[in-house]
Amino acid sequence: MTAVRTALVIGGGIAGPVTALALRKAGIDATVYESYATTADGIGGTLTVAPNGLDALQIIGADKAVTAIGLPMTHTVMTDGGGRLIGEFDGLQGLQPSRALWRPDLYRAIHDYATAQGVGIEHGKRLVSVTETATEVTANFADGTSATGDLLVGADGIHSTVRALIDPDAPQPDNVPLLNFGGLADLAVPADPEAMYFVFGKGGFLGYWSQPDGRTAWFSNLPHAEPMTAAEARAVPVTEWLSRLRDVYSQDQRGSELLAHTSPDQLVVLGSVETMPRLPHWSRNRMVLVGDSAHAPSPSSGQGVSLAAEGAIQLARCLRDLPDLATALRTYENLCRPRVEKVAVRARRTNNSKGMGPMAVSMMRLMMPLMTRTFLTPEKMLGLEQRHTIDWESPV
Ligand SMILES: Cc1cc2nc3c(=O)[nH]c(=O)nc-3n(C[C@H](O)[C@H](O)[C@H](O)COP(=O)(O)OP(=O)(O)OC[C@H]3O[C@@H](n4cnc5c(N)ncnc54)[C@H](O)[C@@H]3O)c2cc1C
Repeated sequence: MTAVRTALVIGGGIAGPVTALALRKAGIDATVYESYATTADGIGGTLTVAPNGLDALQIIGADKAVTAIGLPMTHTVMTDGGGRLIGEFDGLQGLQPSRALWRPDLYRAIHDYATAQGVGIEHGKRLVSVTETATEVTANFADGTSATGDLLVGADGIHSTVRALIDPDAPQPDNVPLLNFGGLADLAVPADPEAMYFVFGKGGFLGYWSQPDGRTAWFSNLPHAEPMTAAEARAVPVTEWLSRLRDVYSQDQRGSELLAHTSPDQLVVLGSVETMPRLPHWSRNRMVLVGDSAHAPSPSSGQGVSLAAEGAIQLARCLRDLPDLATALRTYENLCRPRVEKVAVRARRTNNSKGMGPMAVSMMRLMMPLMTRTFLTPEKMLGLEQRHTIDWESPV
């Protein structure tokens, strides 16, 4: 085991508490420091946690908290805007299904579980700088306080401060020319309760699934060339976005129904889709990145939470098993980097398909039967990602 006994985990989103739980399992005392003074209850749209993410969460006992709130999605149905079937895919044989859920529910479940396990989560602690010595690292917070430990973990999301402290020349997130929205429609549409529907409509892409209460959860990616931060997008009145979305989806059967039954208070405006380009350095000295700060793969991948959970577990295993910190951090990166980079490539392809015009969608509908019999089988598309499992007991 390395000499690391205490860790400061910066960021109390999803990766932060999961990392603290994993580090504690490896015998390292970890505290989470979150910049916001309040919790993030009620903030965010829809997410999925894939089987590989559930597998990683199971190691720290957090999988049940997620499966209790996430709806199992056993297959995916793709249609065009007129409801004509493009293709249908089952989940992978022998794996538990992915879970679809709301980010606020996931956030609450993970926080409650971490707190119940004794993880300390301090709010109002925005990291602004660090002071390093040969034997320890001190996090300095905007409120004038500080905390010292053996290791500092940056689980501070796609706009990470720790990333810039590790490498001031680190690349910034890329903006994908798509705006991200989520919503809840007061309408039950005919749908299999265990299917995730992807509609490639005339106006744009829209995904949805049925909620047990008879409502329908949906998410949309609107082609939009100019980047918009979440704050900029939220500065536009929500009624304006709703009327724009209704207009965009007016010619698409399901999209128009769902938008017509979504009220302004049920629309979640998230701004441009962002992804992290390849990052040259994940760590330096006593600082290391986990989750979106290192490798945000875009929501289209359905892997953001799952890869963050995998990374947290692998970091803890490396610190548990390897003799020195430098070797542990390098090995952690070597274990995770190839996977996250493959997922990022697939997510880029998915993002491109979300901006497809009607001609391309018609072509896809014609080609899909052949494609799904040859190279587009669920196993070929998702096998490597979703069958991944981590053996906690086996030494790194
Ligand atoms: C409010 C919010 C809403 C989201 N909604 C969606 C969604 O609808 N759909 C989707 O696919 N993904 C969403 N995401 C992203 C998704 O949660 C992540 O992709 C995934 O969970 C990996 O999480 P992470 O913990 O690495 O990063 P995040 O979930 O982004 O968490 C990072 C945390 O670090 C904190 N932080 C940032 N800087 C500092 C600092 N200097 N000091 C201390 N703390 C800091 C942030 O406040 C945040 O709580 C959202 C993220 C947030 C923060």
